[in-house]
Amino acid sequence: MKKIIVNGIIVTAADTYKADVLIENGKISAIGHQLSREDAEVVDANGCYIFPGAIDPHTHLDMPFGGTVTKDDFETGTMAAAFGGTTTIIDFCLTNKGESLQNSIQTWHDKSKEKAVIDYSFHLMIGEINEAVLNELPQVIEEGITSFKVFMAYKNVFQADDGTLYRTLIEAKKLGALVMVHAENGDVIDYLTKQALEEGKTEPIYHALTRPPEVEGEATGRACQLTALADSQLYVVHVSCAEAVEKIAEARNKGLDVWGETCPQYLVLDRSYLEKPNFEGAKYVWSPPLREKWHQEVLWNALKNGQLQTLGSDQCSFDFKGQKELGRGDFTKIPNGGPIIEDRVSVLFSEGVKKGRISLNQFVEITSTRIAKLFGLFPQKGTVAVGSDADLVIFDPTAERVISAATHHMAVDYNAFEGMRVTGEPVSVLCRGEFVVRDKRFVGKPGYGTYLKRKKYGEDTLKQQETISIQ
Ligand SMILES: [Zn+2]
Repeated sequence: MKKIIVNGIIVTAADTYKADVLIENGKISAIGHQLSREDAEVVDANGCYIFPGAIDPHTHLDMPFGGTVTKDDFETGTMAAAFGGTTTIIDFCLTNKGESLQNSIQTWHDKSKEKAVIDYSFHLMIGEINEAVLNELPQVIEEGITSFKVFMAYKNVFQADDGTLYRTLIEAKKLGALVMVHAENGDVIDYLTKQALEEGKTEPIYHALTRPPEVEGEATGRACQLTALADSQLYVVHVSCAEAVEKIAEARNKGLDVWGETCPQYLVLDRSYLEKPNFEGAKYVWSPPLREKWHQEVLWNALKNGQLQTLGSDQCSFDFKGQKELGRGDFTKIPNGGPIIEDRVSVLFSEGVKKGRISLNQFVEITSTRIAKLFGLFPQKGTVAVGSDADLVIFDPTAERVISAATHHMAVDYNAFEGMRVTGEPVSVLCRGEFVVRDKRFVGKPGYGTYLKRKKYGEDTLKQQETISIQ
């Protein structure tokens, strides 16, 4: 059935204007004034913005870690994402050394199909490069997985050596993929951690103190240099500190194809949260760790001036009870990660746009458009345009709410932003023209979300869109 959204203010990465949006067959078929409402359901967006659905480029749903599994799976995780205005996620498919990449990808398909309520895609972890992996990569690209993730940290678990990172950069350049790095020096962290434990330093705060900003800055700089050497392309995930921003800015100033993502937790929370009493600091244990407060201003400025370009959630949720608690008496056993997927967009709007740190159009660029462009989804996703998927967020910029685990939709038993007052909230969210959230109530269904094959990195050619005339 046709829908027409009337009276809203459309916001894209470039423009802000009042117009009606006509939706047919899941796509935007017209944008304009006095469009025909014949046979169309009329949706009134008076007083609201219409944003392109946000894209979360960084999620870990149903992921094993540290002897346990993240609390949110593709059903609860994507439902919570939708409430927050996100209509597409790109999740990290983990691989195991010696195992075929196809097996890992199939595992991720099994986890997600019949569950996701919004659209989704995968990045693929590369832990080693050998003949078998090289043989499989072209097929991986063929299946629309055009970004590879390399961990420079988590020694003896996910960590790849520099040779693997370098080879991955070379292959990515050949095949048309974007290499993503978790940039922390895992070897140094391993040493500092063992030292801390030997000295009896076991509290959550030592998670942060054994992964200082220098190890992130060093790894970021190293990844940038290897990218230059390979003449390839790099996306640094979850940038948390000034030291890393500096290295990304330096690389970009040299003309390197290097991009940086940060996350809302680094913009509004700081290291002191890890010192909360009664082991509650464990709720804020993730990697890289929260930093001293002064780093926040550096990150905000980097988003504003384009040194960092995107916002991911790094959603990786574990209950406090029974999961985070595994690390009582030994901070290295605290599962790393936090529940962020639902509030990513709200926090950026409230703290960024409302407080004048970034513009409304930058907000759309950072949460949606740039992500779609970097990860081969544009213009199907990431904008409000004729021919694009009708992934739309009807957003009330004046609504106020207090973030709380008591009202959130994630399956996890705490919220990292508990008690934070935010302005601006999604009212209704559509994915391919169907409501997933309507008037703040869930109306979607598990299995509606489809797997997205993504284009190669840098493949800008617009796919032939359906020809639709603007009335
Ligand atoms: Zn992550």
